[in-house]
Parts: sequence; C-alpha cells; structure tokens
Amino acid sequence: RIIGRSFNIDEDKNLQEEVRRDPLTKLLNKLEIQRETDAFLEGTEDGTHVLFLIDIDNFKVINDKYGHQSGDKVLIALVNILEKYFGENVFRIGGEEFVALAEDSLKLEETLNSLLTSISSDRVKYENNLISYTVSIGVSKINDKHIRHASLEADNKLYLSKKNGKNQYNI
Ligand code: GH3
Ligand code: MG
Ligand code: MG
Repeated sequence: RIIGRSFNIDEDKNLQEEVRRDPLTKLLNKLEIQRETDAFLEGTEDGTHVLFLIDIDNFKVINDKYGHQSGDKVLIALVNILEKYFGENVFRIGGEEFVALAEDSLKLEETLNSLLTSISSDRVKYENNLISYTVSIGVSKINDKHIRHASLEADNKLYLSKKNGKNQYNI
C-alpha cells in the first residue's frame, strides 16, 4: 500500500533543484561547487581562471544592530551585485561567505575596485534605516583543475584583507 502522495517527474526535478540551492539567495550551495567548477573549468587552460572568496565585513554587527532580517536583506542585496559581476558563477559557501569564478583578465584589478565600490556605496533599506556594508576578498588564480588548491590560497588572501583593515582585496 502506498501511503501519501507520489511525486510526478517534474515535481521531483524541482525538488532536486531546491536541495541544490540555498533558499534565501537561491544560489547553488557548497555541495554544488565541485560539480559546477569541474564543468566550468573543463576544457579551459590552466591559469586562465580566477577564484574569489568574498566575506561580508562585521556582519555580526549588522545583525546585532538592526536584526537578523536586515542581515538577510543585506545578503540578498550583495548577491544581486555579485551576479552583475559574475553571472551564474556565484556560490554561497557559508553564512556570509561566497565563492565566485571568472576568467582571468588584464582588467582584474579594475574589476575588483569597481566591485568594492559598488558594494560599499550600496544602501539596503530596512525599516527606517539605510544600511551600508563592505566585503573583504581573497583572490587566487586557478593554476590547476583542483579548485581546492585555489580556495586554500584565496582563504589566505582573504585573511590578509581582513587583517589589513577589511573592505579590500588581496591577490
Ligand atoms: P568579519 O569582518 O571578521 O568577517 O566579522 P563578521 O561579523 O562578518 O564574522 P562572524 O563570523 O563573527 O559573524 C558572521 C555572522 O553571520 C554570524 C551569523 O549570525 C551571521 N549569519 C550567518 N548566516 C546568516 C544568515 O543567513 N542571515 C543572517 N541575517 N545572518 C547570518
Ligand atoms: Mg564576515
Ligand atoms: Mg565569515
């Protein structure tokens, strides 16, 4: 005897898609990064792509000051900006931490400066407040197909960005 309702194929696909994504930002989650980066890097030459590790600065303070819901709005606002720069190649890997992938370019630093400026000049409306926020970024060239190596390096660079005062990137 079958209890409960059965899923049709389309519903099942939607369900599968849902578990791959973070409900708040609709970004692909940590589990999907390996699969997606494999696909992204397939057929590319080593050293032609870059990994960005992006972490909101003092996010705990935003939550404490304006409430958790305001923090959620900041996350969504940030994702909107990240998607303008990186398209679909943005992943939420932790609470306020994101990974993005892009092709390397001579304009890398220009892009990063523009990204930091877009973010620091963004204002998130919440109740009667206009909340501003910044991020720190660690950047690493992907020198082989192992995303893990690049993320470890990006993590070290992110640490430097935090240590040297936040709202900055290190490559
Ligand atoms: P740092 O500049 O060193 O990165 O400091 P930080 O405050 O950003 O970092 P910390 O790791 O101390 O705090 C991260 C906070 O992010 C704590 C946690 O409550 C919050 N957070 C994680 N996920 C979510 C979420 O989905 N929504 C909201 N509103 N807050 C979240
Ligand atoms: Mg943070
Ligand atoms: Mg963090």
